Amino acid sequence: MIKITLPDGSVKEFEKNSTPMDVAMSISQGLARNVISANFNGRKVEVSTPLTTDGDLVLYTWNDDEGKKTFWHSTSHIMAQALEELYPGVNLTIGPAIDNGFYYDVDFGEHSISEKDFPKIEARMLEIARGKHDFKMREVSKADALDFYKQQENPFKVELIENLEDGEITFCDHDTFTDLCRGGHLPNTGVVKAVKLLSVAGAYWRGDENKPQLTRVYGISFPKQKDLKEYLELLEEAKKRDHRKLGKELELFTFSQKVGQGLPLWLPKGAALRERLENFLKKAQKKAGYEQVVSPHIGQKELYVTSGHYAKYGEDSFQPIRTPKEDEEFLLKPMNCPHHCEIFNSRPWSYKELPKRYAEFGTVFRYEQSGELHGLTRVRGFTQDDAHIFCTPDQLDQEFKNVIDLVLYVFGSLGFENFTAQVSLRDPENPDKYIGSTENWEKAEQAIINAAKEKGLNFVIETGEAAFYGPKLDFMVKDALGRSWQLGTIQVDYNLPERFDLSYIGSDDKHHRPVMIHRAPFGSMERFVAILLEHTAGNFPLWLMPEQAIILSISEKYENYAQKVLNLLENNEIRALVDNRNETIGKKIREAEMNKIPYMIIVGENEEKEGTIAVRKHGGEDLGSIKMEEFVNLINSEISRTLKSF
Ligand SMILES: [Zn+2]
Ligand SMILES: [Zn+2]
Repeated sequence: MIKITLPDGSVKEFEKNSTPMDVAMSISQGLARNVISANFNGRKVEVSTPLTTDGDLVLYTWNDDEGKKTFWHSTSHIMAQALEELYPGVNLTIGPAIDNGFYYDVDFGEHSISEKDFPKIEARMLEIARGKHDFKMREVSKADALDFYKQQENPFKVELIENLEDGEITFCDHDTFTDLCRGGHLPNTGVVKAVKLLSVAGAYWRGDENKPQLTRVYGISFPKQKDLKEYLELLEEAKKRDHRKLGKELELFTFSQKVGQGLPLWLPKGAALRERLENFLKKAQKKAGYEQVVSPHIGQKELYVTSGHYAKYGEDSFQPIRTPKEDEEFLLKPMNCPHHCEIFNSRPWSYKELPKRYAEFGTVFRYEQSGELHGLTRVRGFTQDDAHIFCTPDQLDQEFKNVIDLVLYVFGSLGFENFTAQVSLRDPENPDKYIGSTENWEKAEQAIINAAKEKGLNFVIETGEAAFYGPKLDFMVKDALGRSWQLGTIQVDYNLPERFDLSYIGSDDKHHRPVMIHRAPFGSMERFVAILLEHTAGNFPLWLMPEQAIILSISEKYENYAQKVLNLLENNEIRALVDNRNETIGKKIREAEMNKIPYMIIVGENEEKEGTIAVRKHGGEDLGSIKMEEFVNLINSEISRTLKSF
């Protein structure tokens, strides 16, 4: 008998050579139907692998990330079989699972493939799937494995095998197909009920541009047809919400080849949006005890040599700017921190005056290759909602809690309700990798964990993920389409205070090093606006909308009344505009819908006579005729529901 420990800590006895599937069956029929992969003592195993020793077993279903990976990787074998059959003589290389689906890199030789070929490949894949062929792993000797692929004249697999140890090589068979593989497969092909090939792209063997070019075929698969349908709808929706498309339609920002790639230009509506976001954060920061500072866009090269940023960014960055006469060297600012360190250094501090919290919407510039640029999410110049807190080690705990409060306030006001946090700690096995004393690290790590617990965050701890200069806490938010984005970072830093020789006078009258915290709830204004656009599809919270209401007159006769309504709204600080054009009301409504204006106010004869307005919400809901005061109350209460004071 062997003892199997399950994730809940329970221990069950099984006969030697029982499989993960046997274990699943002993738990429930439902689990046995759904289990698709397993991990035994930290190693990926098949659900049919005989277990021969005591150990820890985790069973995965489609609902686990590991389960999905197994599912998609197995489908890449099915696709590889279909490709081999449909394109005789192609050479397969590698076919891993990715975050959303799988790919296979293939040398198509004399054949070529395009999206037009997808339906026939998908049809063959489904046929193979329906055959319910078992995935079976077997060990092969290095010599046999090499023989197998030499016969196929596949230099790629031969190269892979040459780098493996004899005794560690396994093949996976299903139906008539064999592939070199480490394992982690579905019980059989029949579990795959829906497949979709998504795209083809070029890829170099081993990612090296000096090596042969291959064709990467991307696909995805699901255990139910319905799941595929939902996924394709999600992809469609993501296209509609692409911030580059929405930014253009809503006239928020633009790019100009003349100005330069990766350098966004904010249009008036976008600039106003950004200003509202900045003022929102400034107001909260003021209450939280931050002070605004301003620093220049360039700094002497030596500043960044001191901070260490030159070593990090110098080589691959924008090159220094030289003054014509004095031969000085300046760099575009890649980070605000060095400037803020020098602001702190501008006078001596007593421990009684700490913490100091310096905030700046600081624009920084970093070189990105043109191929890497993407809308507002990868740019060459961007503005961080940056702040640096200089405090004593004992104040870390409270400062961390304060920053978490601020970040949660920002998320709540902007409609991000689904988020998790990650605490990154040092690797205790490698203390030499980190700067700062063990005592300080322990204090900081404990402060972060305490703060995360006390604030009720849903967080995971990642050991060994800290930067060399300090532990950190990152927030991951899920947007309306379920995609994860990293937003909001809080980072402890022992390095810069050292490099800039920062100090304060302690209660013992001696000099001490302050601890520094870097934090940015938005991250950068550019990236944040991009994520917010895709999350809300341009339907921002009402307080942030460029225009909150539009007044549509039924005809020119009601122009004066429309103007009167506008004045009243403006007096109540509601952002509105009038559409008095000689167009049909239907057309005016359609355009206002396109521009995502939350409220449409329609005014005609009845409204003028009664002193009312007819209100229609974006999306079509009709609120009927109401008094103007009622409308003002409606707007104000909607705003105060999302935008609470900090
Ligand atoms: Zn495999
Ligand atoms: Zn910083």
